[in-house]
Amino acid sequence: MGFLDTFKKFKTGLSKTRDTLVGKIDHLVRSKGVIDENLLDNVEEILLAGDVGVATTSLIIGNMKQRVREDKYESSDQLVRLLKDEIAKLLHVNGAGEEDLFTVPDAPRPHVIMVVGINGVGKTTTIGKLAYNYKNAGYKVVIGAADTFRAAANEQLEIWAQRAGVDLIQQGRGSDPAAVAFDSLSSAIARSSDVVIIDTAGRLHTKTNLMEELKKIRRVLDKRMPGAPHEVLLVLDASTGQNGLQQVRLFSEAVEVTGLALTKLDGTAKGGIILAITHELKIPVKYIGVGEQIDDLQPFNRKSFVEALFETDIVSSELKQS
Ligand code: GDP
Ligand code: GDP
Ligand code: MG
Repeated sequence: MGFLDTFKKFKTGLSKTRDTLVGKIDHLVRSKGVIDENLLDNVEEILLAGDVGVATTSLIIGNMKQRVREDKYESSDQLVRLLKDEIAKLLHVNGAGEEDLFTVPDAPRPHVIMVVGINGVGKTTTIGKLAYNYKNAGYKVVIGAADTFRAAANEQLEIWAQRAGVDLIQQGRGSDPAAVAFDSLSSAIARSSDVVIIDTAGRLHTKTNLMEELKKIRRVLDKRMPGAPHEVLLVLDASTGQNGLQQVRLFSEAVEVTGLALTKLDGTAKGGIILAITHELKIPVKYIGVGEQIDDLQPFNRKSFVEALFETDIVSSELKQS
């Protein structure tokens, strides 16, 4: 896919979020005309309703009020531009949204990615999409099936591995997930693979402690290859909104999450969660899922996100350069 197609898909995926956030604000501002504190209070309500989160919303509104007081904004266009500016500033955190390509560092090899998250968020699907993109980027990829808990987990992962055209390491249902992770990494080392992606279980409702299991997988990977895993990717369903923040905290405490993949943006109006996560948790959103197909995963790009959210010039000069 070329840049324009990718951006178009991204924009379509964000359309519900755009309508509930910027669309409503744009409509409000146009219908009121006068820019005052009262209007900004209404903007605040829209941001809160759009899952931007309390702390993040109050930061944005506080900054906007100050700038309105100081700079005498008059037209509605100016206010929307001001909001866009504040959102862009907010996303400028921890190098979030700088990635444009599916690449991994040159060393060490293999680059080990452990994927975590609760059931149903899209872990397995995201792993399939990631494997596909890494393979297309020229890497040799191995997937490890360490979700040994779910009955159909292996079959589902097998289908994705086949679609992506990469190797899958698996054992029988109920086997030790840490052992599968260990064997997957061993096998990747033996085959001189570039990237290893480890799928994990996501059950939160049973007595067996998922967090202990994930910690053990981490330990065992590090035992097989000191320093591994190099990434712990938490998959989060964007439609869970503010509850998602709780999931991020829970997993972060157990396994040092390094980045997020935010899935199902295409079906939700709650994309404002990206702002809350970035601002409140300081964990970068690395990928976004915009559909169920293998090419529906995109690296999260901060500039494209803001442009798509505000639906301005598709090929602004800034985007052309990047
Ligand atoms: P897991 O339990 O975390 O491994 O989740 P799965 O990978 O099995 O996915 C659960 C469901 O979410 C499946 O029906 C996927 O097709 C769907 N899904 C995953 N990612 C996306 C996405 O970005 N957009 C949409 N619309 N559906 C998705
Ligand atoms: P601990 O649980 O932190 O004490 O870590 P261990 O080193 O005892 O290993 C825990 C689990 O990792 C084991 O039960 C195995 O499932 C797996 N494991 C560790 N070392 C090996 C190994 O050499 N080969 C295989 N296949 N699995 C291993
Ligand atoms: Mg799964």
